[in-house]
Amino acid sequence: MEFPDIHCNYCGKRLGEFSLDIFVRGYRNYLADGKRRHFCDGNCYEKYKKQFEIIYKDEKMYKLDNAIYVPYMGCHYYFKTAEDCYQRIQQKHLCYFP
Ligand SMILES: [Zn+2]
Repeated sequence: MEFPDIHCNYCGKRLGEFSLDIFVRGYRNYLADGKRRHFCDGNCYEKYKKQFEIIYKDEKMYKLDNAIYVPYMGCHYYFKTAEDCYQRIQQKHLCYFP
């Protein structure tokens, strides 16, 4: 039985062996050494993020899956329009931005 290796989400470079042991317990993208990785390094992660970056009224935000807008990557909430996302970004007293 063959299981896929894990590759960088941006450049496709092989990161290492897939961990079947961890996979069967329900986790994706864990390597055989037990570490979870999606990218080679911060550089690939930055390039990956850049693909989704848009500027709306001078504010940087990310448009994902062509349908949802988030103020930053890894955000746990989203908006259906860039305008709604923009309005949220303007409310800087409501939360912290990394
Ligand atoms: Zn990479």
